[in-house]
Order: sequence, then structure tokens, then C-alpha cells
Amino acid sequence: MNNPFGFMEYARKDAKAETALERIRHYNEFHTPLSEQEQKKQGERCMNCGVPFCQSGLAINGMISGCPLNNLIPEWNYLVSLGALKQAYQRLSITNPFPEFTSRVCPALCEKACTCGANGEAVTVRANEYSIIENAYLEGLVKAEPPRVRTGKRVAVVGSGPSGLAAADMLNRRGHSVTVFERSDRVGGLLMYGIPNMKLEKSVVDRRVRLMEAEGVEFKTNVNVGKDISYKELKKAYDSVILACGASNPRDIKVKGREAEGVYFAVDFLKSTTKALLDNGLKEGSFISARDKNVIVIGGGDTGNDCVGTCVRHGAKSVIQLEMMPKPPEERTESNPWPEWPRVLKTDYGQEEAAAVYGSDPRVYQTTVKEFLKDENNKLRGAVLVRLKAEKDGKTGRLNMVPVEGSETEVEAQLVLIAAGFLGSEDYLTKAFGVETDARSNVATEKGSHRTNIEKVYAAGDVHIGQSLVVRAIREGVDCAREVDADLMGYSNL
Ligand SMILES: Cc1cc2nc3c(=O)[nH]c(=O)nc-3n(C[C@H](O)[C@H](O)[C@H](O)COP(=O)(O)OP(=O)(O)OC[C@H]3O[C@@H](n4cnc5c(N)ncnc54)[C@H](O)[C@@H]3O)c2cc1C
Ligand code: SF4
Repeated sequence: MNNPFGFMEYARKDAKAETALERIRHYNEFHTPLSEQEQKKQGERCMNCGVPFCQSGLAINGMISGCPLNNLIPEWNYLVSLGALKQAYQRLSITNPFPEFTSRVCPALCEKACTCGANGEAVTVRANEYSIIENAYLEGLVKAEPPRVRTGKRVAVVGSGPSGLAAADMLNRRGHSVTVFERSDRVGGLLMYGIPNMKLEKSVVDRRVRLMEAEGVEFKTNVNVGKDISYKELKKAYDSVILACGASNPRDIKVKGREAEGVYFAVDFLKSTTKALLDNGLKEGSFISARDKNVIVIGGGDTGNDCVGTCVRHGAKSVIQLEMMPKPPEERTESNPWPEWPRVLKTDYGQEEAAAVYGSDPRVYQTTVKEFLKDENNKLRGAVLVRLKAEKDGKTGRLNMVPVEGSETEVEAQLVLIAAGFLGSEDYLTKAFGVETDARSNVATEKGSHRTNIEKVYAAGDVHIGQSLVVRAIREGVDCAREVDADLMGYSNL
């Protein structure tokens, strides 16, 4: 700790965002980082507390609190406060292989568990992380470091999302020869074709992929494992196979009229925008467009918010975002104390932007779609919405959201985006490999392990734990790499 009174002397100050009306004119990141001097003061706000929950990554009441990568946060906060960004990078890169991703898209579980946040405002941990990694790139500290010795072992990674990238990075550093198979045309998983460009510019993903290539990782895109290349071929050619293929099976809204033209899954919509943005600068007709349309986004979560922000940028006529659950409280309730993950109302960038453009928050709570309405050409023209109320299930005691009779209303819509969550892995791959899955269709392993029931086959990331967060996927990849390495070499020094 550089200044024991820092948290009293300085208020929390975060990177400045462009105003909503400015930033919707483009698809780029829109925060201006603090100056080095200002960031130092933010580093000084860290109290280096005796029990730093920020770096614990513990599950409390079923929700993770603190950093799942166990980043050495108080240590690098101190180094940031001294302006010793090179040393800070050395400490940060011990635990986090890709801080440039987490410092942009992580919901900062660390800050929710920061002691400063118990009674005031948390330390700007994520912004400090950003300043460390971007300074490291600027200073040329992040450079390709191919392993000096190769072990002669070959590992195949299926899927190039954060978990696959993390596993590949670690195993390659150890000297194994790693090939990453990706069915898309670009590397990155949801970092590339899920999270919009305004949260994570795709040049940031490419920058890391180029480094990994220079270190010897081989990427094979447009290869759908289980279809273009069989499980047997992979197992024959590689000593180990890691399934890091995400949990991309979307939850559908199976109501009357679902087949109407104009109803899409959120990720298909988001992917089409990013792909068109990268391929041709968003040429009209090359992506699913919300331009001049009344849009309904089904799902009040982060993916829904990304859809709202994207629709606003397309020039939608109106956007509403439906959420089944009641509106959360503005502040923590007594049953949700610090350092638990706060179950409070969060207004994200897309919702702010929709409010600025259309005059009100797009979210409509305790509401869902009862029916999609279409015209004679099968084109979506609207939807019947219904209010929901909480009702206790007599048998299980659980609260279910049930329709309120007679509360139906009809709204106009030419585009519906389903962002209702994910149901685990896609089964063509798990069936092709013969790996067992659990009740949630995640690949099953023993607790704390990544080994599947099939010899030499491992699972990491969302395919293993269900749809989660980038930071957790990276942790999964790191842990899985350690286990694969130990099985290949008899021990692991990763
Ligand atoms: C729209 C959206 C926004 C999100 N925003 C955030 C956010 O802001 N912050 C955050 O922390 N988390 C966010 N998440 C969650 C986060 O992106 C995921 O938890 C994380 O990407 C999971 O990483 P993964 O490597 O396990 O899988 P994925 O990122 O899903 O990558 C899996 C990859 O495997 C490939 N693949 C699948 N099957 C095959 C096959 N048979 N052969 C070859 N390749 C295959 C897929 O094409 C994909 O590229 C978001 C999720 C979505 C859907
Ligand atoms: S990875 Fe996420 S939780 Fe961990 S220090 Fe960075 S912002 Fe915080």
C-alpha cells in the first residue's frame, strides 16, 4: 500500500465514456482511459486489506465473488500507484494470460467484493488492469516467446473461445505442439462473434492470436470437428484432445408463430453484425438489420443488452427488452450482503443508449411473449405479450413466473431477438466423441477435474460449466491445460 489514506483522499474515478448519443454513431470501444497520473491515484485507493476478498474467487450463496483467476490484485494496485507498470504486468501475467480481454469485458467480480465497496465505492480494479496490459503492449513487453524445447507431444483443442485459447497458450508455452480447430471463419469464439465490437474491438482478439501463432500455436479455421474431421482421426493424430466448444445451444421461445420470418437467436444476430462489420464495413443487405424496425428483445440479461445496443446503432424505430423476473432493487437487500455478488439493478450501455434515443428505459419486467403474429407472407408483424406473476409451486415450494390471465397486449414488431439463455453443449460433437453429459447437457467430469469418460479427451470452458463468463472460461482453460500436461508428462510445472 502506497498511501494508507488513499481511499479517503481520492474518490473513485473510472474511464470516461462517450455520451450515449455520440457513441451510437459508431461500433468502436467508447471509453477514454484515465491519464497515468490519475490512474496512480486510483491505485492508491486500494487498502491492501488483510483479507482481500477481491482476489478470492469464492462461491458464496451460489454466486462467484472475487476474481476467478485469483489475480494478485492488491499487489498490482500498489505497483500501479507507484507507476511501476512493468512490474505490475509481471505480476498480472502470472495468473491471467489475456488481461486485454478481461479488462474490457469482465463484469469485475473483484470490485463487487472489494472492501472499499462495503461502505463506499470499490477500487477501479478493472481499469487498473486495463492500464497495466495496454501499457505493456505499448512498451513492447507482450511479445512472442516461443518455447525453447518441444516435448514431441501433440494436443488438439476444439474451439477457439477464451477457454480454448487459454489452454492452447499454456500447453504451447510448456513445449507441446498445439492445434486449435475452429468451425467459424475467424478465431476467438464469443470474443469474436458474440461480444459486440463496441465492448471488445476485434483487433484486440487478432493481436493476441497473431502472438500465439508467432509462438507456434496452429489455428485451423472453417473446420467443424465431428463433421469435417472425425473423432477417430483426431484421437489418432493427437496425444490429447480438449473440447472447448462452448455452450452454444440457445434456449428457444416455443410459442405459436415461432416460424415467422424475422425471429432470430441473439447470437446469430450479433454475429451477422460483427461479420459484416469486419468483412465489408456493414454493407446494407449483408447482415440481419434492425433499421427502421420495431424490435422486441426477449431476455433482460447481458446478451439482451448487447442486442439493444446493436439495434440502436442499426437505426431501429423502437426497441423493447422483455424480462420475466421482477425489477431488482436499486441497492443490496439485507439478504444479499457484501461481499456476495450484488443482485441489484444494473443499467448497461445498450439500455442507456436506448433511453437516450427513445426517451425511456427499454426494459419491461414480468413480461414475456405469448404468441408471434405474422402476415400472409409468413413475415413477422407483431407479438402478443403477457404479464407474469410469481406463484409458489405447491409441491417444490419454488417460485414460478406464471401468466396473468387477461393481461395480454398486442405490439407491433418486425424483428424479434431471442436472448433467453443457453441449454448447454450441442450434441453432435458430444455424441461423436461419446463423452457423457450431465442433466444440463454440459460435458460431465469428476468435480475439480477436466477428464471426460473417454481416455485422452478433456473438457474446458462453457461446454464444461455451462454458459458463464470470459474470466471463468480462461480459468477453465488454464486448469485444464495443467491437468493435460500432468497426464502427458507425469507432472506439471504450469
Ligand atoms: C452475446 C454474448 C455476450 C457475452 N458478453 C460477455 C461479456 O461481456 N463478458 C463476459 O465475461 N462474458 C460474456 N459472455 C459469455 C462469454 O462470452 C462465454 O462465457 C465465453 O466466451 C465462453 O468461452 P468458451 O471458450 O468456453 O466458449 P466460446 O467462446 O463459446 O467458444 C467456443 C468455440 O468453439 C467453436 N466450436 C464449437 N463446436 C465446434 C466444433 N465441432 N468444431 C470446431 N469448433 C467448434 C465455436 O465456433 C466457438 O468459436 C457473453 C456471451 C454471449 C453469448
Ligand atoms: S479478471 Fe475480472 S474479476 Fe479478475 S481482476 Fe480482472 S476485472 Fe477483476
